[in-house]
Amino acid sequence: MSHEKLQVQTTCPYCGVGCGVDISGSQEAIAPVAGMKSHPANFGRLCVKGSALHDTLSHTDRLLHPTMNGQATDWDTALNLVADKIRQVISTHGPEAVAFYGSGQLLTEDYYVANKLMKGFIGSANMDTNSRLCMASAVASYKRSIGSDTVPGCYEDLEQADLLVITGSNAAWAHPILFQRMAAAKKARPDMKVVVIDPRKTATCDIADLHLAIKPGSDTSLFNALLTYLHQQNALDKDFIEQCSENIDAALEAASTAAEDFSQLADITDVEQQDLETFFAWFRDTPKTVTFYSQGVNQSVDGTDKANSIINLHLATGRIGKPGACPFSITGQPNAMGGREVGGLANQLAAHMDFSPADRDRVRRFWQSPRIAEKPGLKAVDLFNEVKSGKIKFLWVMSTNPLVSMPDADDVKEAMKHCELVVVSDCMANTDTTAAAHVLLPAASWGEKNGTVTNSERRISRQRGFLPPPGEARPDWWIITQIARRLGFEKEFPYEHPADIFDEHARLSMFENKGTRDFDLSGLTNLSREQYDALAPIQWPVNDNYPSGRARFYDDGRFYTESGKAKFIPVDARPPVTSETGLTMNTGRVRDHWHTMTRTAKAPVLARHIAEPYADFHPEDAMRLGIRDNKLVRLWSNLGEIIVRAHVRSDMAQRKGEVFVPMHWTSRYASKARMGALINKDHDPISGQPALKITAVEATIFPTE
Ligand code: SF4
Repeated sequence: MSHEKLQVQTTCPYCGVGCGVDISGSQEAIAPVAGMKSHPANFGRLCVKGSALHDTLSHTDRLLHPTMNGQATDWDTALNLVADKIRQVISTHGPEAVAFYGSGQLLTEDYYVANKLMKGFIGSANMDTNSRLCMASAVASYKRSIGSDTVPGCYEDLEQADLLVITGSNAAWAHPILFQRMAAAKKARPDMKVVVIDPRKTATCDIADLHLAIKPGSDTSLFNALLTYLHQQNALDKDFIEQCSENIDAALEAASTAAEDFSQLADITDVEQQDLETFFAWFRDTPKTVTFYSQGVNQSVDGTDKANSIINLHLATGRIGKPGACPFSITGQPNAMGGREVGGLANQLAAHMDFSPADRDRVRRFWQSPRIAEKPGLKAVDLFNEVKSGKIKFLWVMSTNPLVSMPDADDVKEAMKHCELVVVSDCMANTDTTAAAHVLLPAASWGEKNGTVTNSERRISRQRGFLPPPGEARPDWWIITQIARRLGFEKEFPYEHPADIFDEHARLSMFENKGTRDFDLSGLTNLSREQYDALAPIQWPVNDNYPSGRARFYDDGRFYTESGKAKFIPVDARPPVTSETGLTMNTGRVRDHWHTMTRTAKAPVLARHIAEPYADFHPEDAMRLGIRDNKLVRLWSNLGEIIVRAHVRSDMAQRKGEVFVPMHWTSRYASKARMGALINKDHDPISGQPALKITAVEATIFPTE
């Protein structure tokens, strides 16, 4: 460790806001971090999690050496064993018996190399990622309607909107800096209206002029009824619809069945009729509207339809690609977007290409690939099902903890036992998932590795290392490259530095790109190491037309569908969710923890907000079930149980019939706290995204009296 003074600019490794972080002090003593004033995501601000990053850098519980069956070994031995096993599985069972499962924590360069190895050289597309749990429905809905996985707007749109509709997102806790920007905009412009649509009354409601606490699952009824209302009120943008879109009639017809009138809609959504009328009138009268949405929309069995019902509203009113007007899906993870750019999901190839014959051929020729995957691979739920069935013989989990985060987490644990070789590359030594691995490969962590991430407004930012990795930890791209070379692909995986990978990725983005694809990084090719190191945050695309990046898409009325027009998607409204038990569990984040707490648990300041797992109850449910505030409660489903602290919300923040449980705690912190063990595998048939928001549960005081 050096005593030399540090001055490094990097990017926060937590949420999809992607805030810039200034590092100072020395390697011996990192100073408290500060927000990077010049970063366009945060302009110097950091939330509590970001501000505590320097407290999370200790090497406690780090994985320091490769291990095989619990015994430390050297890199060569571990890498040879992994490569030999992949080779043997391919020759015995074919490439489909090999699977990778990645993470939005991986940097774009890591993701690129993993995807290239799996899809271009192993020859299977069985690489999926925990972004499947987070963004897959938003991605599928964009692809269906606007032809590209491209967030149309930018963060400034959230500040410039006259009406901000926040739905399925507790932005105040999950994306705090963006929420602060929204709150500041509202304070500066008191006439700006904010509507929050969420079954719970969350901290995000602090800035709401109107909160619609809809019945879980009634979202599409609400948005379809709004589309019908706008049509009836003659409030559609006829010019935009005619010139830039298609299929409006089918969408209007499907929407018309949502509700006959406000009174029926009030019954369906369990929202006061007057509040619905107010929301609809505001939407009708406000051209500058942004609809901001997240997991409450995505994580359900009809998440893709829900997102399309939102996009339909924006297309019908021409509110897309204009300052202060767009549908805006926010990503949960720091690099969910970057991962998708290089094909992180099983149904994608790199550089925003998919499995069409033309795209496959283009990627194959660029990679000089001997056996490019022929068809999309298995999405997360199916992937782990096939691990359990025995079809997948080799599984490599990279930087994520599916034994906690996947639905039916106990079944994933069981699946691991059926796999011939489970490899986990991670920076942490003791997670639920590392405990299930045969081979552990120590990965470099935030602050130790170099690369890029892309945030929710398509802004590419550098993550820069400022500490040496401890023990024998190595960057993920290096580990994957070593395996590729051992499989015989030395020439195709020549990378010595993440800049080499970024350059290849940028060149692929423009390879035979004849303007039919939006993702073009030609302006970022051939960067020297110094230029790559100095790369300032920039929104893609970066090319001759947009040398400084592009803030908004579709301002030219051109979409990435075959016809060049945006497509309305007819969406059938589903009935709201009911549970025979009278209680459904909703899950989500707390303000000061991140995912399964492997990093945030190291910062004592972050435990001050909420120190233990809990369940929020409505007072009437608590009364009915004999549950008392601050006492332990047992929650169970047909799959498993958890035991957590009951919070009876006298402020009525919790809807009756619903219980909220945070997602973070694992068996490391409490023996029965993995909420994933209660959730079944229901998922959206289009996006494959699990329905993590609604699970029928029962509850009783613990221990039973
Ligand atoms: Fe990090 Fe997100 Fe907080 Fe920004 S808002 S500091 S990216 S956790």
